[in-house]
Amino acid sequence: MNIHEYQAKALCEKFGVPVPKGAAATSVADFPTALAQLPEGPTMVKSQIHAGGRGKGTFTNGFKGGVKFCKTKAEAREMASAMLGNTLVTVQTGPAGRKVQTVYFTVANDIKKEYYLAILLDRRTSRPVIIASTEGGVEIEKVAKETPEKIFKVFIDPAYGLADYQVRELVFGLGFNPAEAKNASKLIRSLYAMYWATDAAMVEINPLVTTPTGEVLALDAKVSFDDNSLFRHPEILSLRDLNEEDPKEIEASKHELNYIALDGSIACLVNGAGLAMATMDIVKHFGGNPANFLDVGGGASKEQVVAAFKIILGDKNVKGILVNIFGGIMDCDVIANGIVEAAKEVGLSLPLVVRLEGNNSVAGKATLSKSGLAITTGDSMADAAQKIVKLVA
Ligand code: GDP
Ligand code: MG
Repeated sequence: MNIHEYQAKALCEKFGVPVPKGAAATSVADFPTALAQLPEGPTMVKSQIHAGGRGKGTFTNGFKGGVKFCKTKAEAREMASAMLGNTLVTVQTGPAGRKVQTVYFTVANDIKKEYYLAILLDRRTSRPVIIASTEGGVEIEKVAKETPEKIFKVFIDPAYGLADYQVRELVFGLGFNPAEAKNASKLIRSLYAMYWATDAAMVEINPLVTTPTGEVLALDAKVSFDDNSLFRHPEILSLRDLNEEDPKEIEASKHELNYIALDGSIACLVNGAGLAMATMDIVKHFGGNPANFLDVGGGASKEQVVAAFKIILGDKNVKGILVNIFGGIMDCDVIANGIVEAAKEVGLSLPLVVRLEGNNSVAGKATLSKSGLAITTGDSMADAAQKIVKLVA
């Protein structure tokens, strides 16, 4: 789960990570109240969307920049009015962009130098890793590619936690002067405490900055959490912003379906995550493009299958459906009944290829053929994938 910058910064403050003072607003009418919390003077206006690259983004109405420096609060108010309610396109949003529904005002700071600092899970070593660089404010992927020597990595033993020598290694590597080093050390320790205590999947500060007076501040903050841990963090779950999520994915999570929307045209309905991945691969292999990842689970009910079908058919990009079921725990006839019921309820006008194998597949196939629906059956995964790719083409 992702949260907005203003929420991430509130969390930072709670853990003692210094951030500029700020206030968020969701309507033009709220701007004066928000701005009243800040001192007069240079102010940043920042579009709140769950995507980075906002500073270099462009609104669909041509207005440039989702993050703006303003000399006064009056100017900040005008800028915020230009952003709120408009759609911002950045390198991370895709061409459709994201509608800005919240703006964040912060005190603008003088920047001496920008750095990059992130904590995430390194899957290769199964350890948290701190990634830091002297090249902040730019895309870290670019730094990694062009000047990898400017990136420092510190791997943390999760049982021992972040050690003092590791903090020193980072702080010296980044070349802070003594006063900055003291502040930076404290910030890094606090940030690690936050990462650990909140079960974060990633915290990314880009840029982390030094100011001419020796302060070290997080000017941007991007935080995401491990969904599997949210049950023990109700206060974090309450930060979820459904406006930022795909309505199809929200609906799927209500029915406990593992669904992720993709941009292809062949919808896949599969039981089991591994089989779902393999199904997407084989669709690609035969020249098609999956419209989604959908795992209905090992023991889905008829209701879940109906819900899954409705979600799939609600995607305008879908031109055909591939159902690939391997009945281990799953009863193939339950799937077949779900398909028939959903097709009757929503009216099936798209090509549908079904491959049923395993537990009670004979009954499942009989249910499908008795239904009178125009369903193509596949004898194997390869056969089914080839058939749906051909039907969609
Ligand atoms: P992003 O583009 O989505 O990563 O948004 P950021 O919050 O990182 O803002 C973009 C850029 O605006 C930063 O990289 C900074 O260079 C600049 N910026 C952000 N806050 C301040 C500030 O307080 N003072 C100044 N001078 N620049 C800032
Ligand atoms: Mg940034």
